Amino acid sequence: MDTLHIIGGGMAGSEAAWQAANAGVQVVIHEMRPDVGTFAHQTGLLGEMVCSNSFRSDDSEQNAVGLLHWEMRAANGLIMATADKHKLPAGGALAVDREPFAQSVTDALLAHPNVTVEYGEITSLPEDGQWIIATGPLTSGALAEAIAAETGAEALAFFDAIAPIIYFDSINMDRAWMQSRYDKGETEEERTAYLNCPMSKEQYEAFIDALLAADKTEFREGETAGYFDGCLPIEVMAERGRETLRFGPMKPVGLTNAHQPDVKAYAVVQLRRDNKLGTLYNMVGFQTKMKYGAQTDVFKMIPGLEDASFARLGGIHRNSFINSPTLLDDQMRLRSRPNIRFAGQITGVEGYVESAAMGLLAGRMAAAELLGGTAPTPPNTTAMGALITHITGGADAKTFQPMNVNFGLFPPVEGLKSGRRGRKDRYKAYTDRAKLDWQAWLDRSELPA
Ligand code: FAD
Repeated sequence: MDTLHIIGGGMAGSEAAWQAANAGVQVVIHEMRPDVGTFAHQTGLLGEMVCSNSFRSDDSEQNAVGLLHWEMRAANGLIMATADKHKLPAGGALAVDREPFAQSVTDALLAHPNVTVEYGEITSLPEDGQWIIATGPLTSGALAEAIAAETGAEALAFFDAIAPIIYFDSINMDRAWMQSRYDKGETEEERTAYLNCPMSKEQYEAFIDALLAADKTEFREGETAGYFDGCLPIEVMAERGRETLRFGPMKPVGLTNAHQPDVKAYAVVQLRRDNKLGTLYNMVGFQTKMKYGAQTDVFKMIPGLEDASFARLGGIHRNSFINSPTLLDDQMRLRSRPNIRFAGQITGVEGYVESAAMGLLAGRMAAAELLGGTAPTPPNTTAMGALITHITGGADAKTFQPMNVNFGLFPPVEGLKSGRRGRKDRYKAYTDRAKLDWQAWLDRSELPA
């Protein structure tokens, strides 16, 4: 049987190796640290957490990331089992003692009879054999170049310029309206892909003042290499001139306010439908370095977004990720080179948990292929399935940006109340359905759990 080679022993690579090795496959992890470092990693350990020590909410009934924890535990996940072992008190969140955590992940993999770790940087794409590339947001330069040569440079990003994403059912449609600029679009679906929030002159001026005054995070040393004008934070645009946004992402042209057709808006914030389900809307062009608290305060000043609930807040980070919707099939294989899978943050998911989750799936899928069995793509009613469906097909390839797991990625459960009041019942229904479907998926996949 072929060996499975995994490039990168971070969150995704470690979990992928564990899953495949437990299924009986021989695994080699190729990890460049400690020989070659990154600006964020501090050690040569596998599974190192590069920043916060939190795996976020552990609530598997009301929170999508907590549900992902549950699904990973049910699949005998290494990252979750190790996190549980090194848990620190943190209320409803799963926080861990980072160094013992990474040491335990490393020890578990080194002790596994089916796992070997080879230290050193991989600088080119492998020709033969089964491979998973899990080199993360800080993929080394040489390998990134090799990936770009295979995928086309435009399909590999080096920064994420994340615009906030809002749950549709939290938008006040008494103030906002659907319309594409100049009513462009052939079909009803295209014409309703955009949602508009109008601003008067006073509202615009107050918004600019708040934007300029808001608390921002700084780039870390070494992070800005390659940073370019195409993804400027909105507050930097506002600093360049108070009118810049009104002639950029907030231009009011080609739109008529459906609620007040005679009143010309001074500025308009236009949101675009972000998923096929129509449950999420993206504040296109609103990438920002404002701190999270400041973002919610400032964005709720936008008429129509007073009660907005955010599926994801904005940000700009150093982050290598590929355009998965165009490049990967639903088994996470590179369409042009199906012996190579991608996993982790480089596939366009965001966060430790999401990265490890995509490692879990890639490891199981690769192992199944090597063993002659199957690990079908999980249904999008599960957290795992919702994420993989989003990155490999649900998201718009043209504006693809990294995504956290959130309930907006799940198909609705029929017959439940929408809006804020029904949320608790709705989330419980999503998570109940997900747990049943995930267990059924595990039972169906021909791998030992
Ligand atoms: P990693 O965990 O980074 O693993 C990739 C591994 O590949 C690394 O060990 C690296 O050394 C290795 N590697 C890279 N290139 C090569 C090569 N050519 N050959 C061999 N090995 C290679 N997420 C959160 O949930 N919370 C946070 O607080 C958080 N903070 C972040 C801060 C920064 C600065 C960055 C960049 C990201 C942060 N993230 C955070 C996002 C993301 O969740 C983590 O980066 C996560 O570790 C991604 O998992 P991964 O397995 O995809 O990549």
